[in-house]
Amino acid sequence: MIQDIEKILFSTEELDACVSRIAGQIDKDYAGKTPIMIGILQGSFVFLADLVRKMELPIQVEFMSASSYGSGTESTGSVNIRLDSSVDLKGKDVILVEDILDSGNTLSRLVPLLKDRQVNSLEVCVLLDKPSRRVREVEVAYRGYSIPDAFVVGYGLDYDQKYRNLPYIGILKPEVYENDLD
Ligand code: 5GP
Ligand code: MG
Repeated sequence: MIQDIEKILFSTEELDACVSRIAGQIDKDYAGKTPIMIGILQGSFVFLADLVRKMELPIQVEFMSASSYGSGTESTGSVNIRLDSSVDLKGKDVILVEDILDSGNTLSRLVPLLKDRQVNSLEVCVLLDKPSRRVREVEVAYRGYSIPDAFVVGYGLDYDQKYRNLPYIGILKPEVYENDLD
């Protein structure tokens, strides 16, 4: 796997410090509350697992699954909800946790959908943000890093379902996906 990585963007240690910083901010902002952290599968599973273990507040964990990507590296624009949370979110403080914000198609679909459930509050937490690729506006309360327009993998993020278990975030060598375009 490492041979497919062009460059390590964030090491395990950097990610650890970044996730600690976000956990501290959420703990402070939600003091006295029990937020529901909704991870968007599959990409957020590593980030969410690390994030909640660094938090001191009581929390609930839920998952949803939405997908705008096929197996390629470009968003298709249409977003499928493949798995929805079944808990009653009425009156709850919800934090949507996503691995990476790119075009904004996924979150701009999920945010209004969840706000409609009479939540008390809803904020978005993303580990990575690629602002240069935004097509739809998304308000982000917690952001790990802004990154340039490159396709990254690791720490939950995949290419064609692989590389999620890399303990760092790296830029995939373009030839890995260019070779696949057959
Ligand atoms: P958006 O809907 O904002 O375009 O894209 C969000 C989703 O696209 C993310 O949850 C992630 O699954 C995928 N995505 C966007 N950029 C990247 C990237 O650089 N690497 C990987 N592995 N997935 C990405
Ligand atoms: Mg995703």
